[in-house]
Amino acid sequence: MQFEFATAGKIIFGVGSSKSLPDLVGSRPLLVTGRRAPQINATRFIVTAEPTVQVVRDGVALFRKERCDTVVSIGGGSVIDAGKAIAALATNSGEPLDYLEVVGKGAALENAPAPFIAVPTTAGTGSEVTRNAVLSVPEYRVKASLRSPMMLPRVAVIDPELTLGLPPALTASTGMDALTQLIEPYVSGKANVLTDTFCLEGIRRVARSLRRAYSDGSDLEARTDMAFASLLGGLALANAGLGVVHGFAAPIGGMFDAPHGAVCAALLPHGMRANIRAGAALMRYSDIAMLLTGRPEPEAAISWVASLCAELDIPRLSAYGIRREHVDALCENASRASSMKANPVVLSQDELQTVLTAAI
Ligand SMILES: [Zn+2]
Repeated sequence: MQFEFATAGKIIFGVGSSKSLPDLVGSRPLLVTGRRAPQINATRFIVTAEPTVQVVRDGVALFRKERCDTVVSIGGGSVIDAGKAIAALATNSGEPLDYLEVVGKGAALENAPAPFIAVPTTAGTGSEVTRNAVLSVPEYRVKASLRSPMMLPRVAVIDPELTLGLPPALTASTGMDALTQLIEPYVSGKANVLTDTFCLEGIRRVARSLRRAYSDGSDLEARTDMAFASLLGGLALANAGLGVVHGFAAPIGGMFDAPHGAVCAALLPHGMRANIRAGAALMRYSDIAMLLTGRPEPEAAISWVASLCAELDIPRLSAYGIRREHVDALCENASRASSMKANPVVLSQDELQTVLTAAI
């Protein structure tokens, strides 16, 4: 058995764990947060949407002006990715596009980022333990990652209590993102025994708790399962990569105002079907089907996921304005997305079109 595995410097998980935050932050933190800002003595930078490169430039300027020494993100995936990118750029010269993949120059960071502490308030992205930040570049209508092994957070604090207030639609979309981020790394060509262990445990917890967290947001046991599953998904994807669903999520998120998790959910059963039809990772899909349904046929996993999407009221992609006339461009861009490289099989443009059209 051989594997390599990288993650945050320290992971603190548990109900009430965020109470230790005031002791963890530096003396001059930059607090990146959403509209509901927590009570911490810090310079505040508010992020209310998925971050653009301009948001990162503004955050870096504030960090330097206030002579901050740490970045602390308390919020959903957008807030965590924004903080992670701000911490990375704060100690490096140049600007985000110099380092961005796909549409930027993709240069490597020269200096270690400022210490970064991630505190998720949703259970889905796992961004608290990943080494990339997804930024949108409005000029190109695309999303791309700023990525470096040095961008892994210094500390990840995961407190399920912070997710108790999430409304059902957000619980559904972020929870489906978590499920996608457990299924894709499990069937990925880069999976290893440690990521496999995390994926199977995570899928088991989503299966038993996502419906519960959706129908009763105050169910702390279900929220704890989802927070843990989200963490496991982040650990897995950072080390084993993703696949076709996330390959589509990047160009769709760049061109349309659509929540990442809901996009992944709408695509997930169709992405699974394309891989299974292509004969890829069948034993792995069979493992997933056994976990979800007690039956070994890979197709059983597809039906289970499709009915979960229906129960959670996941909209079709047409709800975000995506139409048949967008299919060619989206498939073209998806085939170049970094997540697509980890899909267990290279899907043709025809196969990609089938996936996307079925989700519209
Ligand atoms: Zn995702």
